Amino acid sequence: MIELEYRRPVSYGIRRCEFDDYLLKRSGARLQLHQRCESIAREQNEWIVNDRYRSAMLVGAGGHFCPVAQWLGGDSPAPTPVVAAQEIEFPLDERQQAECQVAGHRPELTFCRDLMGYGWCFRKGNYLNVGLGREDRHRLSEHVAAFCEHLKREGRVPRDLPNKFRGHAYLLYGHSPRKLVDDGVLLVGDAAGLAYAQSGEGIRPAIESGLLAADVILEAAGDFGRCRLESYRRRLQARFGRQRPVPSGAGRAPSAFRQFLGGRLLANRWFVRRVVVERWFLHGEQKP
Ligand SMILES: Cc1cc2nc3c(=O)[nH]c(=O)nc-3n(C[C@H](O)[C@H](O)[C@H](O)COP(=O)(O)OP(=O)(O)OC[C@H]3O[C@@H](n4cnc5c(N)ncnc54)[C@H](O)[C@@H]3O)c2cc1C
Repeated sequence: MIELEYRRPVSYGIRRCEFDDYLLKRSGARLQLHQRCESIAREQNEWIVNDRYRSAMLVGAGGHFCPVAQWLGGDSPAPTPVVAAQEIEFPLDERQQAECQVAGHRPELTFCRDLMGYGWCFRKGNYLNVGLGREDRHRLSEHVAAFCEHLKREGRVPRDLPNKFRGHAYLLYGHSPRKLVDDGVLLVGDAAGLAYAQSGEGIRPAIESGLLAADVILEAAGDFGRCRLESYRRRLQARFGRQRPVPSGAGRAPSAFRQFLGGRLLANRWFVRRVVVERWFLHGEQKP
């Protein structure tokens, strides 16, 4: 266990329902809430969604399973490495608050021995968020169960931690084979597969890609042909780097070697602070 202290806040934790609600209200957009996107059709140069909404421009922002991304072709038939995660978020009662050793100002990360993923324990006020994500979805539930047992044994979480974990999936930047742009359409966030490869975090890329997309759409000034929208792809590359496939499966170093090297590096305070936390998670070198 390595504990790192910073003299100022370096990151914030917030419940997603609160954060997303805040962003949505702040956007000032006209909203049609509680309506699933059920159908997408293209007639001449116009999109028609749910046989009802018509638009010259469509932005796919529906996360990993975004229907717009599916319309554009979804994932290639070649197996695509997907991050699979399970998490739970629940309010702590008074006894559980006393039992929970995770401090509100100090999120906890626990890396899998094979370095294929990590578990987390975040306190958000009186809520506790516990989860584990891996680049390899096989036996995910076993990894999650073992992680929870470890947390209970160490007294980090209440002994009666609920076990109704929710499953999720998404792509990492570099792995994503998705088509990002076409006539009158582009993808942002998880729909485009933009989460950071090292940490699996995707909120910042989702927000920043939304801002880049907005700029490109405004500059297109009503001409939404693919050529006019192509600059979105270039701006993504300028921001997040070129799409370089991250080695996965057979392309990775052998598991025993990774475990040996990972164990050494993750026991090194300098490496954990400067590389893991400040580069891989906080992206301190990249200004907002
Ligand atoms: C368990 C877990 C923990 C994570 N923790 C972090 C973290 O701590 N920090 C971080 O940076 N990233 C984290 N991530 C990654 C992050 O959640 C995503 O990268 C980010 O939410 C992507 O934002 P998005 O807006 O592209 O997609 P989403 O947040 O998935 O939003 C997509 C929206 O589209 C809606 N939608 C989907 N389909 C339809 C449809 N057919 N009709 C209408 N609406 C639809 C959904 O309801 C949802 O509101 C985590 C991911 C997981 C799975």
